[in-house]
Amino acid sequence: MRANCWYGKRDVRVEDVAEPRILNRRDAIVRITTTAICGSDLHLYNGFVPTMEKGDILGHEFMGEVVEIGPDVRNLKQGDRVVVAFPISCGKCFFCQKELFSLCENSNPNAWMAQKLFGQSPAGLYGYTHMLGGFAGGQAEYARVPFADVGTIKIPNGLGDEQVLFLSDIFPTGYMAAENCNIQPGDTVAVWGCGPVGQFAIRSALLLGAERVFAIDRFLERLGMAKEGGAETINYEDADVYDILMENTGGLGPDSCIDAVGLEAHVPGVIGAYDRVKQAMMLESDRPHVFRQAVLACRKGGTVSVPGVYSGFDDKIPLGSLMNKGLTVKSGQTHVQHYMQPLLERIQNGEIDPSFVITHRMRLEDAAEGYEIFLNKTDDCVKVVLKPNETRAMTPKTNRLSKGEVFSDMQGDHSAFSKGGEAMAEEHEARQPYKCAVCGAKFDSQDQLQNHLKSCTQKKSQ
Ligand code: NAD
Ligand code: ZN
Ligand code: ZN
Repeated sequence: MRANCWYGKRDVRVEDVAEPRILNRRDAIVRITTTAICGSDLHLYNGFVPTMEKGDILGHEFMGEVVEIGPDVRNLKQGDRVVVAFPISCGKCFFCQKELFSLCENSNPNAWMAQKLFGQSPAGLYGYTHMLGGFAGGQAEYARVPFADVGTIKIPNGLGDEQVLFLSDIFPTGYMAAENCNIQPGDTVAVWGCGPVGQFAIRSALLLGAERVFAIDRFLERLGMAKEGGAETINYEDADVYDILMENTGGLGPDSCIDAVGLEAHVPGVIGAYDRVKQAMMLESDRPHVFRQAVLACRKGGTVSVPGVYSGFDDKIPLGSLMNKGLTVKSGQTHVQHYMQPLLERIQNGEIDPSFVITHRMRLEDAAEGYEIFLNKTDDCVKVVLKPNETRAMTPKTNRLSKGEVFSDMQGDHSAFSKGGEAMAEEHEARQPYKCAVCGAKFDSQDQLQNHLKSCTQKKSQ
């Protein structure tokens, strides 16, 4: 099968790898229809998180069709359409019983590695370092899903992949970040980072009753999306974030502050140089600039909620402020399984359509380009989804499908999954949008049509 593999800093490659097999009685194999690139993948792509190995299959946001199940998976059957939660969780240990799924005791076979860095190990994660289990990820045609009875949610017909895919991670992550703020009527929440996680934190804070949400970033398209979601925006390149937040809260500070940026914060000025140098020399694991700002800005007795990923040991954390202001800090990899059902219901009720965040739809084959665009935030990129079963070449420059364009085999109509090769070929032909005006031949892309036109118009003029 084809899969997107990590080869080092800024080096990912889509290549042929062995297909996954059922290894344990509670495994399932999922044929992936839609997958995505996450901000967390960028930390791996930039080489900031230790214990990746060349050839590791990336990706932890994926969904698809169940094609095989182990004998102890009793709540799924072949052909079910499922979204997979990114933490791998047994459902039975002390932590899973408390629904703290990302802290599962039984899913990380390399727990000893994580213990060295963290004291105790969190759950294993798909496509996210050997320290967190070395599990093959979901930017691939197929994936093995351990503890599939606990780690999946069945998707009812009528909901498209793009509406539900983000139940795998970023919707629950933004939601848990907001829930951790214990929002009270009248509260003001400040969200640093308007990437996908920030976008869901903003919308979730409003769903949970926040009166005002401030969204902080520097990319105009991301700030624009935040504004559409109901936030008031602050461009940190144009203004002093602390001052603006104080001015707008009567000098108290926001009731809660969400750090949806994490370890690769963009840090202007002297403190930025300090973090960059120390991080590059491995003297500091992260650039915790946003965490520092959030602590300093938060109102006394408030909450700092940290969905942003950090990896190790960091400097110049304002512990004095945190302690003297009586702040609460809440964080964690998301307990996705706890949120999937209630958030699916919010989607079904029409309270939110998570597909708003998607700006780029690409083939799995073009994953490397997707990583570059998402990393550099070029082409107004906010979120890239990848389609492992899509073979059609896409528009020449970015391989981007037009906004809102979706494919029938990825939609709620479940019968499409069992389509035979012939039907798929017919459908593929029907999709070929570029038609030669001279001879009527159809092509996948403008490029192919242009090439063809050279010979075709020649023929005509001869
Ligand atoms: P992203 O890289 O697309 O977004 C990060 C945003 O932060 C960017 O828009 C960037 O411009 C902004 N930013 C950078 N420096 C800033 C600063 N100084 N002030 C304000 N904004 C700043 O990533 P994403 O997918 O939205 O993910 C965000 C974070 O959440 C990452 O650290 C990711 O690893 C983490 N994450 C955590 C979980 C979890 O379970 N806790 C799950 C998914 C993602
Ligand atoms: Zn993620
Ligand atoms: Zn467990």
